[in-house]
Amino acid sequence: MSSPTRVFHRQLHKPMLFAVSGQGITLTDQAGKTYLDASGGAAVSCLGHGHPDVVAAMHAQIDQLAYAHTSFFTTEVAEELANVLIDTAPAGMSHVYFVSGGSEAVEAALKMARQYFVEIGQPQRRHFIARRQSYHGNTLGALAVGGNAWRREQFKPLLIDVTHVSPCYEYRDRRTDETAEQYGQRLVAELSGAIDRLGGENVMAFVAETVGGATAGVLTPVPGYFKAVRELCDRHGILLILDEVMCGMGRTGTLHACEQEGVTPDLMTIAKGLGGGYQPIGAVLAQGRVVDAFRQGSGLFQHGHTYLGHAIACAAALAVQRVIQRDGLLEQVRERGQQLETLLQQAFGDHPHVGDLRGRGLFRGIELVADRGSKQWFDPARKLHARIKSEAMASGLMVYPMGGTVDGRCGDHVLLAPPFISTPAELEEIVARLAGAIDRAV
Ligand code: PLP
Repeated sequence: MSSPTRVFHRQLHKPMLFAVSGQGITLTDQAGKTYLDASGGAAVSCLGHGHPDVVAAMHAQIDQLAYAHTSFFTTEVAEELANVLIDTAPAGMSHVYFVSGGSEAVEAALKMARQYFVEIGQPQRRHFIARRQSYHGNTLGALAVGGNAWRREQFKPLLIDVTHVSPCYEYRDRRTDETAEQYGQRLVAELSGAIDRLGGENVMAFVAETVGGATAGVLTPVPGYFKAVRELCDRHGILLILDEVMCGMGRTGTLHACEQEGVTPDLMTIAKGLGGGYQPIGAVLAQGRVVDAFRQGSGLFQHGHTYLGHAIACAAALAVQRVIQRDGLLEQVRERGQQLETLLQQAFGDHPHVGDLRGRGLFRGIELVADRGSKQWFDPARKLHARIKSEAMASGLMVYPMGGTVDGRCGDHVLLAPPFISTPAELEEIVARLAGAIDRAV
């Protein structure tokens, strides 16, 4: 097991570490070194690694049936998982469309929105509105709605045209003379202006992460923002698509982050924590009225992938969801989330290079600044985020740093998304190692 490798890795200039085993919140590499997985990979491993109940469920499923194509069959396990997801979804959600990951979920939601309007006789609706400093995935449709100009730049000729508006980014954008609520109203007014410019009757959907994830480091919505967005969308017959691929499935302390906002989207994308990394799986949860339009119309969603509703993926996700329910893990996320918030405040509350600590539950962002007073970010050429990552890895810690300016905004940040099963002692160790890594990197 050594370089060179023939896998086309996402970065080709550095040798890769080999992960050889995982247990609880720890991964072990080929040299026997262990790493605390404080980011759940990319906010995926909600139950940690090697959870016996999930492993057993996957074994049982593969002994019975691994794969049956959905143009011929459904399976009991897919139906059971759909029942669990709908029973726990916000009221009004009626069906689940399975896919294999987050980008596929977003892609399916965008196409579902488009076909919905074709089905109901409004084919003139062609526009999406989304937000800057957002991430919705890497396939072309998902990349187009994503709000990271750098990621989009070289693929622009291939992308659909999307209007982007400001996200909720209180730390940088709320003026000192306005309350959080007033700031939210200003953002909704901006969205309203964008809708008016496009013509409300021409817009299909507004797409947003309920809690922003990787791009700007856990952007939480201000009170009332999503309620006002929901009302605005309803006024114009525009669908609300909430992307909860990263922030959903318990990560913020409720199963869906939108529960805390008191809104129900028309379409909601989930992935990552749905299967907890045991299998690639994602889904779109759809409101009954959207599904009814298809049922009463063509009866055929013109979209699909070979592996959708894969039986082992569904078995893994079903087991993950049952463990979360059985072990009261949502409550644990809320408790441990508070503990993590306190630990982060103690470690970084007065840190000269930490501008903002934010997040909910076990989903936390730390924004780094060269100067706290002016909020000036570090020179992107320093690649602070990459240095934090390598210092953290050297001390046996996995965190999810991102950096460089995004649309000329925000600098380096670190995202934490530890498994729901993390113990108080493990959270203390995570924060201690992170504090050391940041100090050495800065
Ligand atoms: N949407 C959000 C909010 C995400 O954070 C991500 C991935 O980080 C995606 C979509 C894309 O998911 P995937 O990487 O599984 O394709």
